[in-house]
Amino acid sequence: MFSYEQARQCVIQNMQPGTAPRSIENINIWNALGRVLAQDIKADRDYPPFHRSTRDGYAVRAAEAPSGATLRCVGEIKAGDSVSASLISGTCIQIMTGAAVPEGADAVVMIELTKRSGEVVTFERAAQAGQNIVPRASEAHASHGLLRRGTRLGHAELAVAPQVGAAQLSCAAKPRVAILSTGDEVVSLESLPNAFQIRNSNSVSLAAQVTLAGGQPVILENAADRHDDLREKIAQGLQQDLLLLSGGVSAGKYDFVEKVLQELGAEFYFDAVAIRPGKPTVFGKCKDKFIFGLPGNPVSTMVTFELFVAPALDILAGAAPRPLPLMEARLTQTVKEKTGLAHFLPALATWFSGSPEVTVLPWQGSGDIAALAKANCFLVVGDDVGEISAGDRAPILLRKDVA
Ligand code: AMP
Ligand code: MG
Repeated sequence: MFSYEQARQCVIQNMQPGTAPRSIENINIWNALGRVLAQDIKADRDYPPFHRSTRDGYAVRAAEAPSGATLRCVGEIKAGDSVSASLISGTCIQIMTGAAVPEGADAVVMIELTKRSGEVVTFERAAQAGQNIVPRASEAHASHGLLRRGTRLGHAELAVAPQVGAAQLSCAAKPRVAILSTGDEVVSLESLPNAFQIRNSNSVSLAAQVTLAGGQPVILENAADRHDDLREKIAQGLQQDLLLLSGGVSAGKYDFVEKVLQELGAEFYFDAVAIRPGKPTVFGKCKDKFIFGLPGNPVSTMVTFELFVAPALDILAGAAPRPLPLMEARLTQTVKEKTGLAHFLPALATWFSGSPEVTVLPWQGSGDIAALAKANCFLVVGDDVGEISAGDRAPILLRKDVA
């Protein structure tokens, strides 16, 4: 049985990062947050396009402004001013942050280090050549690549595009992800469940996770635990880029998902992972589409999505898989678990400064959605770790949506 790291690696290897996305569309920059670039973005001119002052102060020739020197101020340059005149020897020019440094000047002295009386400026500290100037083209030369194909557009990446005048961006289409819940006991949100039925929460949480991971959820109607119904709805799901099933992958008498997939010609890369919750997770390929069978218990479904499905969505969009958001935290209590499986326990991490502390929350097992809704992370207890003592440090997996 794979460890969760091996299973994740198996997903990534089989899905082949670096392959082009299924399709490409033109997206307006205002709608492009979170999308993956399908083009390179190049500098349209030098950046900065001129020698830029990074301070409010005086543009000088450094050699003419040793400590105690005085120079006559002969003008001023604001940000946005065009500059044609060069600095005349023996003078200085007042300059603002973001303005172009005039030819002849090789330093800007901060206004705080000067005194001014009429037109005469006294320099309290020696100017250094190059001081407070970002030279032209030092950030990028014209036509130099700024963002590469496959880059996910966060706010900083987005800001690069208008800088170079790109208002429309060629982006990967969001991978379309079919979400198929299964189970005779599962009823839709609109219906009133009888005593032994449950409402379908997995389709909602999976749709949220798909959206957060950059995919487009396509919700299918719940499938009953019957071959014919499963076959029909799985076939519908295989129309999309990726199929996620919830439930029906354990060893129960009515867990038919793997069998039906097999009848449809699926090959499986794994059908169990050494984790709790989430052990019976299935990953395979059917009719050229990748499929995940996630266990139906809601916390299992959510954990296995984060571990195995999220990197698959990155790859389908033409991006590199984002690393798991793991960090270390100091335990507030002693935790004991059986070895053999890695455990993911709903937990609350708090940190104000320095290293975080983590407390495992009480829960009733993998059906306990309410416990997970109070958690902002999972404590990860490795498969060979029987006990972690209070005060020791251990890995936590952040819930990126709330932490
Ligand atoms: P299974 O993996 O099919 O054995 O399902 C395990 C348990 O998960 C079931 O007994 C249900 O309580 C729960 N479950 C299955 N599907 C859903 C769903 N769509 N929404 C919420 N809970 C579910
Ligand atoms: Mg079931």
